[in-house]
Amino acid sequence: MLDIPRSLYREPKTLEDIKALKRTLWVNPDQESVKNVWESYPFTMSDIDDAEKRLERFAPLLMQYFEEVRKTNGIIESPLKKIPAMEERMKERHLIKGQLYVKLDSHLAIAGSIKARGGIYEVLKRAEDLALAAGILKVTDDYSKLAEPKYRDFFSQYDIQVGSTGNLGLSIGIISATLGFDVTVHMSADAKSWKKDLLRQKGARVIEYDSDYTEAVRNGRLAAEVNDRSYFIDDENSSTLFMGYAVAAKRLIKQLEEEHITVDADHPLFVYLPCGVGGAAGGITFGLKKLFGEHVHSFFVEPARIPSVLIGMATGLNEKISVKDYGLDGVTEADGLACPSPSALVGKVMKPLLSGIFTVKEHELFNYLRELAHSEGLYIEPSSCSAFEGVARLYDYPAGRDYLAEWGLDEDKMTHATHIAWATGGRLVPKDVMDHYLETYIDSSR
Ligand SMILES: *Cc1c(COP(=O)(O)O)cnc(C)c1O
Repeated sequence: MLDIPRSLYREPKTLEDIKALKRTLWVNPDQESVKNVWESYPFTMSDIDDAEKRLERFAPLLMQYFEEVRKTNGIIESPLKKIPAMEERMKERHLIKGQLYVKLDSHLAIAGSIKARGGIYEVLKRAEDLALAAGILKVTDDYSKLAEPKYRDFFSQYDIQVGSTGNLGLSIGIISATLGFDVTVHMSADAKSWKKDLLRQKGARVIEYDSDYTEAVRNGRLAAEVNDRSYFIDDENSSTLFMGYAVAAKRLIKQLEEEHITVDADHPLFVYLPCGVGGAAGGITFGLKKLFGEHVHSFFVEPARIPSVLIGMATGLNEKISVKDYGLDGVTEADGLACPSPSALVGKVMKPLLSGIFTVKEHELFNYLRELAHSEGLYIEPSSCSAFEGVARLYDYPAGRDYLAEWGLDEDKMTHATHIAWATGGRLVPKDVMDHYLETYIDSSR
């Protein structure tokens, strides 16, 4: 066990709850008014614009390779959907003010999860960087030519390594193999077997470990050190992944307009993001804060059995701490969130922006899964379902009510609030696995 300096136990009550495996809400004491944040912030709006333009350059190539993105002109994007039946059911049991939407990254093209944003983006950037440096591509070219054999041969000289609990591996594996790269995915013991099978079928090399995600990442990093044609996708540090996720915010503006949703001082926007290492949730939060400022309130949700970003941020130790230092085994049904240590990048960049972090009990994941399936006919994976915990319990905790009071969000404003549960994965789950989830009941003491 790590010896944590007493002074860093800034939230003793929350941290005691975590050790006892109780669900909780931690409100970030370091959140600032956004106008004070940007001056010294490491990322800017032009970083997001740059990522968005790169994705546009690759759109013709993606259309060439993937039938499923032809109707969106090569752009990988998910719907924002109003879910009134789910809202009604949830309001029978919980105090919720305002309207409920779900963002269906669970159904994103190609990878079937939120990783279709960051993961695919980083591989595309790698491909572009290599081709530009070799002088075989200009940014003004039609990128669909990259599907020609001579470009695929060029990419096949390079390898890509990634560590994953499943979904990141799926996105990186599929896009890398499609472009022609030699790709190896290092899978932690949490990874579901259907994800490994699917990857092998797509042409990726899969190495399985008996150990956790941190260990799988370590092995990926080591494998990439062997030669300079290797590239390691670093989920714990990558600002490229982060920027791929941030683009989601720009796309959301248009979707909010289409739904006639106003976001301003009288119409706050709440987003609830399932969180593993924090990269996806962090990137999206950065984008949203950049665009909507203090009118957006971003909460992460982590399993009570593995709340790594919460522990990292609440102690200030970030990536230097693991849930294992707290005596937690980190075993969860939410395989997409099974990361014992947080990203090094995210704790730092979320410090002034994040509203807080909810933790969720295992049995609730399956309750939300059934509720969404039965009320709306939407099927998403257990990790994804954690988003609904934030919607359900904002008012349950004194810390949540204090947060609303502190930000001046009275009853009237909250009546006009929009809540977005960010669904992060599910489309590729095989039917028999989903049927099993629908029948899964976990003892609430777990
Ligand atoms: C990866 C993942 C997340 C969280 O992303 P992080 O970057 O690890 O925080 C959430 N849900 C699902 C389904 C995922 O695969």
